Amino acid sequence: MKIVKYPHPALRHKSRDLTIIDKQVRLYAAQMLELMYEAKGLGLAANQVDLPFRLLVMNSTADPQQREHEHVLINPQILDRKGSMEGEEGCLSLPDLYQKVRRAKTVTVQAYNLDGQALENLPSRILQHEIDHLDGVLFTDKMGTIAKLSSRSVLRALESEYRRAQERGEIPPDAEILKRLAALEASPDHLPPPGPPEPPAQAGDGQPPPSRPARAPTGSRPR
Ligand SMILES: [Zn+2]
Repeated sequence: MKIVKYPHPALRHKSRDLTIIDKQVRLYAAQMLELMYEAKGLGLAANQVDLPFRLLVMNSTADPQQREHEHVLINPQILDRKGSMEGEEGCLSLPDLYQKVRRAKTVTVQAYNLDGQALENLPSRILQHEIDHLDGVLFTDKMGTIAKLSSRSVLRALESEYRRAQERGEIPPDAEILKRLAALEASPDHLPPPGPPEPPAQAGDGQPPPSRPARAPTGSRPR
């Protein structure tokens, strides 16, 4: 499993609800959490690891020591939005891009955890960002005109980087990626066909730039 980068087609896939929470789904969630912590992200959606499922993980502290803030969300749905607030966002699938995005201040969400229990009171901005991923929506889509304009060069660079990796054979052709997503979506046990190996990931996903104080210091640091 690896985090895919813009403009990988999985990021534009609208995922369907999971119908069962099986061993494979638990394994995906565990792997996604591990990847998220490794990349120092606050959240990670299944689309970002090339999986077509409505599954996301988050921890607003980005700290693996603070498991009480860790959440696995299955089939999350926004039932209600209140207020409006601008805030800076980044995304693990769009490295080096940080821009202000206007979102609802609070959302009421319906979701299930791995035990099939309903979840409440989760951090709104991360949640909206991650649920957007499940719908194939990126935070670049939600930016204002000026933020969009100033993001163009970073996006162009990511696009040509992606195409070059494809030409080198490090990323499969888009048609192949889409075929795999469809096969996974149709698979009753959520199992993928065998895939290629994996390069490393980067910081982002609801997290401000590394140069700014991202989160409250906790005293515990990764090794
Ligand atoms: Zn993201």
